[in-house]
Amino acid sequence: MSLLELRHLSKTYPGANGAVVHAVSDVSLSIAPGEVLGVVGESGCGKSTLGRSLLRLIEPSGGEIVFEGRDLTRLTRHQMKPVRRDLQVIFQDPFGSLNPRHTVGGIIGEPLEVHRVGTRGERKARVAELLKLVGLPEDAASRYPHEFSGGQRQRIAIARALALEPKLLVADEAVSALDVSIQSQIINLIADLQKRLNLSIMFISHDLSVIRHVSDRIAVMYLGRIVEIGPAEEIMTAP
Ligand code: ADP
Ligand code: ADP
Repeated sequence: MSLLELRHLSKTYPGANGAVVHAVSDVSLSIAPGEVLGVVGESGCGKSTLGRSLLRLIEPSGGEIVFEGRDLTRLTRHQMKPVRRDLQVIFQDPFGSLNPRHTVGGIIGEPLEVHRVGTRGERKARVAELLKLVGLPEDAASRYPHEFSGGQRQRIAIARALALEPKLLVADEAVSALDVSIQSQIINLIADLQKRLNLSIMFISHDLSVIRHVSDRIAVMYLGRIVEIGPAEEIMTAP
């Protein structure tokens, strides 16, 4: 049984001079529970549009997003709200998405607040647990994002994304802005959390060396289409 199945998903943008940009064209794929699907391809091939469309952060132009048997494209914004808990995302630049005026505790705890999970005390305890899970000190909760390095900020973003115990995580160029040595720390953290939490992940990167070790299967994108998909070992050894 798949957790997520994309059927003929497409997304077009209006381009220059009335042209149409086919950012994602007729993409069909599935992700099983606990599976890591790597999505690789050169810049501009549509990876980010694919990731954002499946989360409905942008509206797909066509096709179906079947998550746990339900087509998300048919849900209203209101009906999407509970589903959002199960689908989380981390982006390339966590600084952009971490509000500099909020404490790290506030940032990580915000999804819990939005979804009215627990009492204030329970949320605080959960935030402390999440900090530990991603390898940050407990006192990080009362500090601000700018006090942390790029790698640590990505840990904050991961903690926030995991706060509601999602089933699927989309990691969109999540380590691309980091130094290579820090990249491997964050990749190892994500791989470790994936196993512990039995998370499904769509791991998007333009860099095959980033996803090769963590992906069960790899999809290769080119000009908005999946041109190849298969077990990681097969894709890695393809001519
Ligand atoms: P990738 O993540 O692989 O770099 P993107 O999904 O960002 O690719 O982009 C795919 C294509 O869609 C590119 O040609 C890009 O220029 C175009 N595109 C992306 N976002 C927009 C937008 N908001 N408006 C118009 N074109 C866009
Ligand atoms: P902010 O300082 O960002 O405005 P709030 O005080 O509004 O944060 O708290 C938001 C949520 O984040 C709270 O429900 C709480 O659970 C959590 N939180 C905030 N600060 C901390 C902290 N220092 N330690 C642990 N959790 C915190």
